[in-house]
Amino acid sequence: MRIFGRILDIFFPTPCSYCNGPVGSSGIPYFCSVCWEDFAPISGPVCPRCGRPFDSPESLSHSPAHECGQCRQYPPRFDQALAVGYFEGPLREAIHQYKYRPCRSLGRPLGDWMAGKVCRLTELDMVMPVPLHPTRLRHRGFNQALLLAHRMCKQHDILLSCDNLFRVRPTRPQVELTGEERLKNVAGAFALRRQDTVKDRNVVIIDDVFTTGATMNECAAVLKEAGAAQVVALTLARAL
Ligand SMILES: [Zn+2]
Ligand SMILES: [Zn+2]
Repeated sequence: MRIFGRILDIFFPTPCSYCNGPVGSSGIPYFCSVCWEDFAPISGPVCPRCGRPFDSPESLSHSPAHECGQCRQYPPRFDQALAVGYFEGPLREAIHQYKYRPCRSLGRPLGDWMAGKVCRLTELDMVMPVPLHPTRLRHRGFNQALLLAHRMCKQHDILLSCDNLFRVRPTRPQVELTGEERLKNVAGAFALRRQDTVKDRNVVIIDDVFTTGATMNECAAVLKEAGAAQVVALTLARAL
């Protein structure tokens, strides 16, 4: 089948999912190298707590610890949220293909892209992917957050903790819901199998997209209640 697929590729090359041009020798499934290198990284001033980009570059110049209005009014349970890119353009398309096609083989290049953009993970003790409920896992065939977490751990030499945090009940996909519904949907949806292993530890939770932060907040709450010292929420992309 693989040889047949290669022959098909010669005569009917797979177009890039974003620009429809030839994928060529990018080495990335379904993406040409121009689009892949065109992901928009988040740069400039962001809220030091939730990672929300500020409109004005001057926002943090006088008080670097200035948190956004949302964080001051409703402090999140995580200590810091970091997103690597904006959820737009080719990165948005890549995440859609990865999750909903679903295209498992995009996990490695997306995870490597994320891991390559993140530094200073040395003080962190373990990485946890946001878990899927077994019914969703059966449907998709893989946990997209776990593949990203795996690349992060490999590049930064951190412990991967992939079965401690789990979903106690299935939830609706957050993407279908409004902000208020998202909070209710994930409330009490997560738990830890071994609480003692996170006590006094610095933990990174990994997911693909940060939208309202409801999922990350719920996971962070569970970790904090078990005594985690610091919780960082890291995602590939941030929706605005
Ligand atoms: Zn392209
Ligand atoms: Zn904030």
